Amino acid sequence: MNGPTPPDSFLRALGPLARAWDAANGDEAFPAERLAAVARAGGLTAFTRLPDEHAVRALYAALRRIGGADLSLGRIWEGHVNAAQLVDAYGDAAQRAAVEAGSRVLGVWNTEPAPGMTIAREGDVWRLSGAKSFATGAGHIDAALITARLPDGGKQMVVVDIRDHRERADNAGWRVRGMRGTRSGRFDFDGLVVASEALIGAPGDYEREPRFSAGAWRFAAVQLGAAEALVRHLRDHLVASGKREEPIQRARFAGCVAAVRGAGAWVERAALRAEAGDADAIPLTLMARGVVEEAALGVMEAAARGVGTAAFFEDSRIDRISRDLGLYLRQPVPDQARDRAAAAWLERDRWGDDPWW
Ligand SMILES: Cc1cc2nc3c(=O)[nH]c(=O)nc-3n(C[C@H](O)[C@H](O)[C@H](O)COP(=O)(O)OP(=O)(O)OC[C@H]3O[C@@H](n4cnc5c(N)ncnc54)[C@H](O)[C@@H]3O)c2cc1C
Repeated sequence: MNGPTPPDSFLRALGPLARAWDAANGDEAFPAERLAAVARAGGLTAFTRLPDEHAVRALYAALRRIGGADLSLGRIWEGHVNAAQLVDAYGDAAQRAAVEAGSRVLGVWNTEPAPGMTIAREGDVWRLSGAKSFATGAGHIDAALITARLPDGGKQMVVVDIRDHRERADNAGWRVRGMRGTRSGRFDFDGLVVASEALIGAPGDYEREPRFSAGAWRFAAVQLGAAEALVRHLRDHLVASGKREEPIQRARFAGCVAAVRGAGAWVERAALRAEAGDADAIPLTLMARGVVEEAALGVMEAAARGVGTAAFFEDSRIDRISRDLGLYLRQPVPDQARDRAAAAWLERDRWGDDPWW
């Protein structure tokens, strides 16, 4: 008989780990030990390829579970999964094999300070210029999949092994209210030289649709996991404090449950469509991003009101999750995402096969 698939065995191992992480805030340093536990459980390779709906649902569950246990770890791990999938989709056999070995933690660094990064050929090698900002895991992860402009303006993916260049990371400016553990500082690539084998796919592949926009379902799932964790902690408080007897508290709690479950339906639908390569996954994901954001903001407010001042103490899980989530909800161009989603729905209903009536 066949054993469990890698996604299943990872999820099984993750359960107790995530419960333990969610029970304690831990420090706010880069979560190296937790990441190593994820790696030992097979998390660096389990989701490089998603062959069927079962695997997609498993990734959806894993992203939520890690996001609910440690949002910084969730961000770091989501970046690794994204990088591994990009190499799998656009890389050659040798590049895919290097990812499949599962020996390096990867990240995707696209955001950059002006004037942006460039890459140019110099004989047999390629020279990088510029830096990346919001570089999750700067100085801690092993390799970064970055984007850089070719002389003709094309955007090229490059995997750069940065283990020997940790001094190029600058996290001094990463003085933030939440997500401190991601160490999303700046990384200076100026003058670094890479071989041709470091270039992944063709120019433009990074932003190829529907993968580029619809892939945002993964960070929405991580955010959702944190919102769900807040609901769990609010529930624990209401039960332990006897406040569950108050109808106003129950009404507030009901709103939280409805919000996260509703958002979950959106993200799951977006995930399944996205991983099927369906173009409708783009508006679904764009809409899901906003639905998750609203649910999360509502739950953060409800947890603060329901628990009161105790939710603002340093050792409170609610304080930590709210600080982390408040920042992690800030993802690129949210207004534009919602606007694009609305425009698509004005054209026709994207949720199902039902017409508007
Ligand atoms: C914890 C954390 C980790 C991260 N890690 C990474 C990483 O590893 N790799 C990476 O590449 N990036 C990373 N990022 C960056 C992230 O992907 C986003 O780029 C960043 O969070 C967006 O920041 P912003 O709020 O300034 O966005 P913006 O997109 O600038 O949005 C700010 C506001 O301005 C509005 N706006 C933006 N442009 C326009 C416009 N043209 N017209 C009108 N309104 C506009 C938006 O709608 C929004 O209301 C990370 C971010 C965080 C918070």
